[in-house]
Amino acid sequence: MNKEVGVSTGIFYKFYEEEELNRKISHISRWNIDRIEILFSRLFMLDIPLSGENKTFLKKKKVTLHAPFFNNEGYDFCKLSREEIRKLVKIGKEINAEYIIIHPDLLEDAAMLKEFDFPFVFENVKKDINEEFCLENLEKSFKLNPNLGLALDLSHAESLSNEKIKGYIKKYCNLKEIHISIKEQTSFLEGERQNFQNFLDQEVNFILESRPRSMDKMHLIIKRLKEILNEDEKGL
Ligand SMILES: [Zn+2]
Repeated sequence: MNKEVGVSTGIFYKFYEEEELNRKISHISRWNIDRIEILFSRLFMLDIPLSGENKTFLKKKKVTLHAPFFNNEGYDFCKLSREEIRKLVKIGKEINAEYIIIHPDLLEDAAMLKEFDFPFVFENVKKDINEEFCLENLEKSFKLNPNLGLALDLSHAESLSNEKIKGYIKKYCNLKEIHISIKEQTSFLEGERQNFQNFLDQEVNFILESRPRSMDKMHLIIKRLKEILNEDEKGL
């Protein structure tokens, strides 16, 4: 199967203002990508109306939504109540998004997700930030809600070996996507690839979450990422 490349609007951190969600989506629409993840990093972003042009573009793409993690000022983590989940589900249904990614430690009440007719995905949290929702302890969440998916952030699970991670996934997770962060160096993807290339045998979406210093390299990064993700198939 041809592995797809997804890009998060979060890659425009400090390139566009958080308010400029529509500009971020338009910018991504110029690149050759298969899927797009819309990051609503701060709470107020849930109230930004999507432009007609972007809605048309998004309806034609595979789209996922990432729930907020910061309050409006961007200095503190937010809490996610029913109200925020309702707004996300509304946007999701409007543009036919596939699922909503949530940092589970921010949910006021995880049980409320069952009230919504929409797929949700939990991202594993760094152990030193919240032990309850780190990858090795997510089993409870998946037992409570078997429809949940997992967004695996490898940098949040760096104390675990790839074998251990795969073991947990096999045991209790429905893996949906893997986040790929790239560092600021020019050797952008090569450093990261030892991490995510261990997961190429999984049926999963790969989402690019950060960028190198220069935005003009993005089309090269996307091209290279696509090559790396599909190298196995060509027997390289
Ligand atoms: Zn996240």
